Amino acid sequence: MVHPENNEKYKGLMVNKGIERPSSVNPYLKRPKKRHLSVNDYVEGIIKGDVTTLSRAVTLVESIRTEHQAIAQEVIEKCLPYAGNSVRIGISGVPGAGKSTSIDVFGLHVLQQGGKLAVLAIDPSSERSKGSILGDKTRMEKLSVHPDSFIRPSPSAGSLGGVARKTRETIVLCEAAGFDKIFVETVGVGQSETAVHSMVDFFLLIQLAGTGDELQGIKRGIMEMADGIAINKADGDNIDRAKLAASQFQSALRLFPAPESKWTPQVLTYSGFYNIGVKEIWDMVYQYIDFVKANGYFDYRRNEQSKYWMYETINEQLRDSFYHNPTIEKMLAEKEQQVLNGHLTSFVAAKRLLDAYFEALQ
Ligand code: GDP
Repeated sequence: MVHPENNEKYKGLMVNKGIERPSSVNPYLKRPKKRHLSVNDYVEGIIKGDVTTLSRAVTLVESIRTEHQAIAQEVIEKCLPYAGNSVRIGISGVPGAGKSTSIDVFGLHVLQQGGKLAVLAIDPSSERSKGSILGDKTRMEKLSVHPDSFIRPSPSAGSLGGVARKTRETIVLCEAAGFDKIFVETVGVGQSETAVHSMVDFFLLIQLAGTGDELQGIKRGIMEMADGIAINKADGDNIDRAKLAASQFQSALRLFPAPESKWTPQVLTYSGFYNIGVKEIWDMVYQYIDFVKANGYFDYRRNEQSKYWMYETINEQLRDSFYHNPTIEKMLAEKEQQVLNGHLTSFVAAKRLLDAYFEALQ
């Protein structure tokens, strides 16, 4: 069978435009009311590995209601001692790179060795697109019906930092529920990679061979974060181009300073669709994990990530508190206008707003 994209008549770009799916929930359906769960019910259910309780707890983590957040934070705290025992892999690539196809195959591959896999996502655009990019479970056909997998679309509300924090908290819950492999997927469009990188042990960048100038489109910072680059769709007529792209990426990587992990990022080619080269990718990932566990970088990176998230949470909450303060809400537009008119310097405007904020707090 020839993949449609390898058909010589195929002229389309590799990037496919998604469609918005209608909600799968019938709005007229009366659902039975769910039993109210206490913090201990949540924790016990999660530790037993009960996926329904896990899903409900993740819904609380994602909720913006203060009372939900309060329960969620307690549940997370009680789950923390049971968490941490997993391998966390970030998987990034532009839409159309083949993430869904690959994660389906990768997932089945890692589950062959036993254990349980959770697939989470960070999609900063999901609020706009109603979660249509990474929101749909059916993108991973085989994995979504596998008894040992748990697939959760990206949380949708809030800033990128907020969305990412919720995904990170969900990792804790999944680990406490016995998921020992966690994939965090993101669209390769910029900042979301930084967020994913700050919560995974291995960052895999999925790339495509293009017209020979593939290195131009990809931001240096993203490449620098990658622990491995996998060139997808190395099948049919595309094999040579994929190999060429791989050697270009490999030489580009040599120009970067040596990573803190002392690991040399590798570039491999594979085909998610035909399941070629998938084993090699996972051999590389596990080789990396052994390597960084032996040299201490694994624990170091996790500690650094915890520190990062502490400061990130402080920053996010301070920002929220500032911008939602009624005094500031009243003043902000006016001060912005004065800066635009040249009546105030940016610095003075910022200082007046901050002074007003601190005064309002007293
Ligand atoms: P995503 O947007 O990154 O999740 O990408 P998808 O997994 O939805 O794949 C986008 C398109 O690329 C689909 O038409 C897939 O069938 C195709 N595709 C995915 N993997 C491969 C592959 O290994 N080889 C080829 N030729 N096409 C692939």
